[in-house]
Amino acid sequence: MPTINVVGAGFSGLTTAYFLTKRGFKVRIFEKTNRAGGLICTIRSAHGLVETAANGLLNSARLEAMCADIGVPLLPTRRDGRKRFIFRGRPRQLSLTTSDMTTLAFRLATQAISFHPRQFETITAWGNRVIGSGATNYLLAPALGGIYAGDPKRLSASLIFGRAALPNHLKTNRPARGRVRGTVAPPNGMQQLIDGLCVYLKNAGVEFVFNYEARLEPNEAAVVCLSARAAAEFLSDAVPELSQALRGIEMLSLATVTCFYPPEAARLKGFGCLFPRDQGFRSRGVLFNDCIFEGRGPAHSETWIFGGALDPEAVNLGDDEFAQLIASEREKFYGKHDDGLDFRITRWPNALPHYSIELERILTMLPAPPSNIALVGNYLGRIGLAKILERAALVVNEIGLKL
Ligand SMILES: Cc1cc2nc3c(=O)[nH]c(=O)nc-3n(C[C@H](O)[C@H](O)[C@H](O)COP(=O)(O)OP(=O)(O)OC[C@H]3O[C@@H](n4cnc5c(N)ncnc54)[C@H](O)[C@@H]3O)c2cc1C
Repeated sequence: MPTINVVGAGFSGLTTAYFLTKRGFKVRIFEKTNRAGGLICTIRSAHGLVETAANGLLNSARLEAMCADIGVPLLPTRRDGRKRFIFRGRPRQLSLTTSDMTTLAFRLATQAISFHPRQFETITAWGNRVIGSGATNYLLAPALGGIYAGDPKRLSASLIFGRAALPNHLKTNRPARGRVRGTVAPPNGMQQLIDGLCVYLKNAGVEFVFNYEARLEPNEAAVVCLSARAAAEFLSDAVPELSQALRGIEMLSLATVTCFYPPEAARLKGFGCLFPRDQGFRSRGVLFNDCIFEGRGPAHSETWIFGGALDPEAVNLGDDEFAQLIASEREKFYGKHDDGLDFRITRWPNALPHYSIELERILTMLPAPPSNIALVGNYLGRIGLAKILERAALVVNEIGLKL
C-alpha cells in the first residue's frame, strides 16, 4: 500500500487519517502548528472547561462506531440542556406570535408553495416565501445565524438544506442516525476526541510531522484537510485554477467568550439562547455550558458568541471591552447583574467559510482536483463535524477504489 499524505491535523485530517488507517494505508500527517486539533481545543480551568470552537457534535452511527473503536466515550446532552431559547422581548422557547404561527400553519397545510429552495435563493428569501416573515426573523434567521455565523440575507438556502446542485466530486453521504439522538461530546471536552484519535493513529503507525507547513510535491498523493483559505494557499502552484476558486471563499471571523459565575447565577436551564438582530444584543447567542453536558463545572459557565458576517469587527474588541459588553448584555438578558469569577476569550480571525450564495456559486463550478488530490473540510458544502466525518469516510472509500 502506498503512503498517503494528510495535510492538516484538525478534525478533518485526523478523521481522514483514521479511515485511511482502517483501509490499511500507510499515513503521514503534516501539521503547520505544534499541536493537533486545529480550531478544536479544550482548556481546563479551575472553574470548568473552555472550548475554543465546537463544544459538541451531532451524533451519528459513524461517530459512535469510531469513538467505540478508539475508546472515547460520548455523553448525550443533559435533559435540561435540550431546551433552546430565542430572545423576543425575553428568552422564549416558543418565539413566534399567534399571527406568525397561523401564517406558518396555513402555508404548511396548504402546501401552496414549493418548499424546495431555488438555486441561489437566500435564507431570508426562502423563509419569507415559504414560512412567512415572522418565522424567518424570529426562528430561522437566528437559528442559522447561530450555526453558520452568516448573514441570512446572503446565506444560501440550497447549501444549508443540502439541496445545492453540487458537482459529483463534492457529494457527501447523509449521516446515518446513531443510537443516541442529538448533540454529544466526550466527558472531558472535545480535546478528548482529538487526543483519542491521535493516540489511536500513533499506535497504528501513523507518522505525525508537526511544525511543518506542507507544500504540494508533484504527483504526491495527498488529502488536503485544511480551511478554504489554507487549501487555496497549499494548492496555489500545483493546481492554480482550483486554488483561485477557493481563494474567492469569504471567511468569517468569530470571538467566543466563556464566562464563569457562581452556580446561583444559572437562572435559565437550556442549551442556550439566540438573539434575533432587532433585539438589541451585539452577541449572536449564548450557550449554557454546564447545562448542556455533565461535568462542565464546578462553576456556572456561559459562552457568548460574537462576530460573523454581520459584525466582522467584534473579533478586534479588547478584553475589557468584551467584559463590559457581556456584563451589559447579561443585565439586559436576565435583568440582574452577577459578578463573574473568570472569563476566557478566543478570537478566530477567518475561522469559518460564509455559507452564502457566493459560496454556492463557487462550489457549483468548483473544478475537480487532479486524481492525486482529494479535499476534506468545512467549506465543501457541509460545515458541521458530523458531515465532515461523512466526507472523510467517503473520500477514503474513493481512494481505496482508485488504488
Ligand atoms: C467558535 C466555533 C464554534 C463551533 N462550534 C461547532 C459545533 O458546536 N459543532 C460543530 O459540528 N462544528 C462547530 N464548529 C465548526 C468546527 O469546529 C470546524 O468546522 C472544524 O473544527 C474544522 O476542522 P478542520 O480540520 O476542517 O479545520 P481546522 O480545524 O482549521 O484544521 C486545519 C489544520 O490544518 C493546519 N494547517 C493549515 N495550513 C497548513 C499547511 N500548509 N500544512 C500543514 N498544516 C496546515 C492548521 O494549523 C490546522 O491545525 C465551530 C467552529 C467555531 C470557530
